[in-house]
Amino acid sequence: MKNISIWQDTVNNEDMYDALDKDIDVDILIIGGGVTGCNTFYQFKDDKRKIALVEKNFLGSGASSRSSAKLTFLQEDIYTKLNDKAYLYYRSQKEAIDVISDIINKENIDCDFKNSKSYLYTINSNNIDRIDKEKEILSSFGEKTTSFKKLPNGMRVETGFYVNNTYIFHPLKYIKEIVKKSINDDHKVYENTKIIRIEKYDNYYKCYTENNVITTKYIVLALHYPYFLFPYLMPLKVYLEKSFLGCIKKDKSFDFNAINIEKPLKSIRYYNNYLLIVSASHNLSFSFNNKKIVKEFMDNTNINNYNYLWSNYDLITLDHLPLIGFIDRNMIIATGYNTWGNTNSVVASTLIKDLINHKTNIYKELFNPKRCFSKQKFINYPINIFSSAYSFISSKVNKNKSFYEDNPKFTKLNGKSVAIYKDEKSIEHIIYNKCPHLGCGLIFNEVEKTWDCPCHGSRFNLDGKCIMGPSNYDIGYK
Ligand SMILES: Cc1cc2nc3c(=O)[nH]c(=O)nc-3n(C[C@H](O)[C@H](O)[C@H](O)COP(=O)(O)OP(=O)(O)OC[C@H]3O[C@@H](n4cnc5c(N)ncnc54)[C@H](O)[C@@H]3O)c2cc1C
Repeated sequence: MKNISIWQDTVNNEDMYDALDKDIDVDILIIGGGVTGCNTFYQFKDDKRKIALVEKNFLGSGASSRSSAKLTFLQEDIYTKLNDKAYLYYRSQKEAIDVISDIINKENIDCDFKNSKSYLYTINSNNIDRIDKEKEILSSFGEKTTSFKKLPNGMRVETGFYVNNTYIFHPLKYIKEIVKKSINDDHKVYENTKIIRIEKYDNYYKCYTENNVITTKYIVLALHYPYFLFPYLMPLKVYLEKSFLGCIKKDKSFDFNAINIEKPLKSIRYYNNYLLIVSASHNLSFSFNNKKIVKEFMDNTNINNYNYLWSNYDLITLDHLPLIGFIDRNMIIATGYNTWGNTNSVVASTLIKDLINHKTNIYKELFNPKRCFSKQKFINYPINIFSSAYSFISSKVNKNKSFYEDNPKFTKLNGKSVAIYKDEKSIEHIIYNKCPHLGCGLIFNEVEKTWDCPCHGSRFNLDGKCIMGPSNYDIGYK
């Protein structure tokens, strides 16, 4: 079984962009090379200003290379949850699908982009009303919805409906290609380039990497985890939801994609002859035992011989809407996609372009990151404060707890507590098991052989290199 995503395993990673090696001046700096950063970079393709995209690892190395890669507006029962905001959100998702289809067709992008009907279903008779309500709302928007009792792969359900004009694709192939199409003398991409500090001046910002400085008028924060934004109460407005994803080889492939409405979540699609399943979703702050979660994943899906198995997480907002817009005079944020970032990153990219160009955009207020959340926030803020405190304390309590037999081992070296993982060649990988971000204890993830921070989602490989999340530093032990 491979413990990387099928997207990372099926893309050519040879042609990397050079890291930044000098100080530069640009008009717009995009920080983060996931779907948000790359779509935004593409939107400015014909702009005459100087633009740089910097990525701390490689393009798509974050959440974007670990998703199920559906492009759909059928997102569980989002329209029921959104009430009076449902239509505008629906419109944004439909437009995003049109925009991305146009880009792929116009630029002739080879990214396994396929038409794929989206199915929403329940296997529980108690949830029939929820399906009917979502169907009714979409029908009232003029969307064609068709009922079914059996998925195209033969699985029987209690009830469900499907919609047309939705798609699936290969996210890493897409990202790499659109970036390639957007590069020119004034639009540059730097991989292995991490922003570690931002300083604000009257009309510009200085962004520091380890060795260089980028001076810029505008900053687009496309880095997924904006946890350093304490003045905007970001950590209280979002929480992290983690899920496992598995792929298993099948004799037959189908073009549809499907998701259920109940817990446990089960979301599926096919890629070539592989069935891809997402399940075992949970709030990251409350679940430390990866071994138990993986067992839950296998039980939920009734499969235990996956060819690929990996995890991913996304930011969930309290009012189910993304956070896209200015958070400072010339600084824009785009995150909080509630696990639907492939469409919402496209919405973000076109909105960001309009914001920087001082154009009106009908989604500006809907996604405004400074918006007042509904009264629900008064219930959820304390929950999020509690979950932050809980995850910090629990991570300290659990950090030396092994959920696995002998590996890793926890001990003290030079007075500091360390974790030692012995790999199959008996090589020892030693790290301080403390997250360099805010000091939480790290939890071992046996499936992907990573050290995961339960507080804010930073992840490190066996040798302590940060591969995902808000930490700007690697960990070591020397
Ligand atoms: C289980 C699961 C399944 C999903 N399936 C779908 C799906 O089917 N359809 C869908 O629409 N969405 C899906 N999503 C959601 C989607 O994966 C995310 O919303 C989306 O990938 C977020 O993209 P991003 O560009 O904002 O973040 P990322 O892809 O994480 O990109 C942020 C980038 O910023 C870089 N970075 C961070 N800090 C710095 C720094 N200081 N300097 C430089 N670079 C930095 C990171 O290395 C990273 O590459 C799913 C999510 C999950 C959890």
